Amino acid sequence: MSSSPGMDSDPVPAPAPLPPSRLVSVRLTAWYWGLFSLSLLILFAFVYWSLDATLRKANAELLHSKVKEFADTYKDSGIAEIRRDASQKRSDEFLIRVADSQNRTLFASLPDGDPQGPSVLLALEARNVLPAERLFSIGLGKWGAFEFANTRLKNGSFIQIGRNASHRRGPLEHFVASCLGVAFPVLLLALAGGAFMADRALRPLRNLTETVQNIVATGKLDARLSPEKTAGELRELVISFDQMLEKIQALVEGMRGVLDNVAHDLRTPITRLRGIAELALRHPADLPACQEALSDCVEESDRVITMLNTLMDISEVETGAMKLNLSRVDVTDLARQLTDFYAELAEENHLSFSFTASGPCVTVADESRLRQAVANLLDNAVKYTPAGGSVQVGVRAANGRALITVRDTGPGIPREDLARVWERLYRGDKSRSQRGLGLGLSLVRAIAQAHLGECRVSSTVGAGSEFSLRIPLITSEL
Ligand code: ADP
Repeated sequence: MSSSPGMDSDPVPAPAPLPPSRLVSVRLTAWYWGLFSLSLLILFAFVYWSLDATLRKANAELLHSKVKEFADTYKDSGIAEIRRDASQKRSDEFLIRVADSQNRTLFASLPDGDPQGPSVLLALEARNVLPAERLFSIGLGKWGAFEFANTRLKNGSFIQIGRNASHRRGPLEHFVASCLGVAFPVLLLALAGGAFMADRALRPLRNLTETVQNIVATGKLDARLSPEKTAGELRELVISFDQMLEKIQALVEGMRGVLDNVAHDLRTPITRLRGIAELALRHPADLPACQEALSDCVEESDRVITMLNTLMDISEVETGAMKLNLSRVDVTDLARQLTDFYAELAEENHLSFSFTASGPCVTVADESRLRQAVANLLDNAVKYTPAGGSVQVGVRAANGRALITVRDTGPGIPREDLARVWERLYRGDKSRSQRGLGLGLSLVRAIAQAHLGECRVSSTVGAGSEFSLRIPLITSEL
């Protein structure tokens, strides 16, 4: 088989590869980084809130214990002791106030160095203290507040201890500063990590794109990805892609092979046709020679037409387009008639024919197609079996199928060629001396497939071959 020059060339100019796009990578990184930042922010806010709540609680407990302490002192020793106590245990942070039942200040000690002390005292005096109130606060504009613990004594007077809430600001500000200090490098690290992970995750897709672009640019289908370098779901994609490439490559190579063979096999009869016509044109006056040339031309044309028709029949089966003209067929009868016909035809070859059948074997099939298939098997047996050999034809029903076997004592087929005999336009090396197109067995297989059947071959070089055709036994029309 020769390959025709120019078959491999790609007539369509390959499009320039697209510039690599990182849009998905950038988006993935941005999404990851955004979500990470949001989570970090939520975490910091939660810790800030818990810290603030803890500090508030601790402050309230402290104020309560102080109020209780002063209340005990007041009960035991009166206001003079409180005054003494307040100046002794004096704490610069606390505002201590004792008020009578009319909320008139009996005693007040202001926090040291807190300019807001006097105004808070005034606010306390102006305020209606509810008897059951234990904790309250007095606001000092936007950010500040004084938090108070309050207790009412039996005689109706109040003891109030307060503290500027700004004492909590220190630890909270420290916390915010620490968070900001940590957040910056952490966010930077998250951005770099996100970009790295997105790049890593999308690498197999980029390889895939590169491979596809490479195939588009060069037309070479032998490029493959490396599944061993990919993990998870993308590994399955890479494996499937490689398998797809494998199949496409096999298909394209198969088609190229068929095209090469068809081109080669058409060239021979057409060159012959041209030669015959040219020769006849040189001697237009020689009528008998011209007539012979014309008859040769018809013969050669028939050969080309047969070849093209057979190729189209095979394609029809492969694409599911072959229409079967179904009817009831007795396969035994059909095979016997063909055996008789070929036995007569091969008389001069001194081939002995035998036919065995277990009885009528009726199925629903396209009779002319089935006849064509069995005839092709018999034709090959006659063609390849040397004089003196024998051809045995058998028909029987087995496992719901009609089994037709054609066994000969021909040269046999080498083991390595057995699978190839069904290929379109395949001809064994030693068979080229015989007439033939290399399409007979491909058509037999196509007809068997169209009938939902199959065909097989077994052969021993030097001893002969056995071809079998299996057609399902169907008794009612499909
Ligand atoms: P053709 O006979 O026109 O060459 P086929 O498709 O019928 O094409 O057969 C393909 C090839 O299979 C043949 O060229 C031949 O090498 C081999 N072959 C087919 N039938 C036989 C047979 N009965 N004995 C030996 N070889 C055979």
